[in-house]
Formats: sequence, structure tokens, C-alpha cells
Amino acid sequence: MAHDCPLDKDQLGFHSWNLLHTMAAYYPENPSERLKQDMETFFLLIGRLYPCETCARDFAQLIDSKPPDTSSQSALSRWLCWVHNQINTKLGKPLFDCSRVNERWRDGWNDGSCD
Ligand SMILES: Cc1cc2nc3c(=O)[nH]c(=O)nc-3n(C[C@H](O)[C@H](O)[C@H](O)COP(=O)(O)OP(=O)(O)OC[C@H]3O[C@@H](n4cnc5c(N)ncnc54)[C@H](O)[C@@H]3O)c2cc1C
Repeated sequence: MAHDCPLDKDQLGFHSWNLLHTMAAYYPENPSERLKQDMETFFLLIGRLYPCETCARDFAQLIDSKPPDTSSQSALSRWLCWVHNQINTKLGKPLFDCSRVNERWRDGWNDGSCD
């Protein structure tokens, strides 16, 4: 398929995860109260506005059961990793090791393969 075509559900998902995990990766370790609130609102709105109806509904339910932990970069990245793993489970995909989430999305793998 050409690169300038509308996204299907998987392409949209892959690119959305890139944005969401990268946002969590660059979130500060000591956020202001305002930033915490903004980030929580952002994820709540993803659950309402994400342009795939079943994805948005299930995401909103996940957030309801376990609200975003916006207290720090590490907490937010771990929370988002947990959410993504819930969706991986639903889709029969392998689980990601959340202890390595900053290697994947912020620092690069410890083996130097991203350097
Ligand atoms: C909010 C949201 C809800 C979605 N809901 C649905 C749905 O209900 N039904 C549906 O069919 N699709 C859904 N998707 C799309 C689905 O999650 C995948 O994006 C899509 O199937 C493409 O999968 P992929 O194999 O390319 O890898 P993706 O799941 O897109 O993952 C991209 C990369 O993220 C990394 N990764 C994987 N798991 C984790 C994790 N737990 N933490 C950190 N990094 C990780 C891996 O390196 C992987 O290559 C949703 C996407 C989003 C963003």
C-alpha cells in the first residue's frame, strides 16, 4: 500500500502507541499539579475521542478501573505499559516486560543497539 493512504486500525494503533509512550517517556519525574491534571485529562479524552469505537470504549473502561498514575515519569510509563499489556492480552499479543519500558521508549536498549 502507498504511504499516503488512510490508516487502518493496526497502523493507527502502532503510531498512536508511539506517541503515547513517547509522551510518557518525556514526562517530568516531578510534574507540577497542573501538568498532572493535564495529563490525566489527555488520557481521559483519548478514551472518548480515539477514532476506533471499540478501542476507545475498552480504553475508557481500563482507565476507569485503574486511572492514570501521573505522579512521575516512571509511574506514568509503568501505568501506560500496563494498559498496553491489557490490550495486548485482549488481542492475543505477547506481553511486554514493563521493567524495560524506559529502555524501549526513552533511553534505548541496554545492549547499545539503539546507539
Ligand atoms: C488506545 C488504544 C487502544 C487500542 N485498542 C484496540 C482494540 O480494542 N482492538 C484492536 O484490534 N486494536 C486496538 N489497538 C491497536 C493495537 O493495540 C495495536 O496497536 C495494533 O494491533 C498494532 O500492533 P503491533 O503489533 O504493530 O504493536 P503495538 O501493539 O502497536 O505496539 C507497538 C510497539 O510498542 C511496544 N510495546 C508493546 N507492548 C508494550 C507495552 N505494554 N508497553 C510498552 N511498549 C509496548 C513494542 O515494541 C511494539 O512494537 C489499540 C491501540 C491504542 C493506541
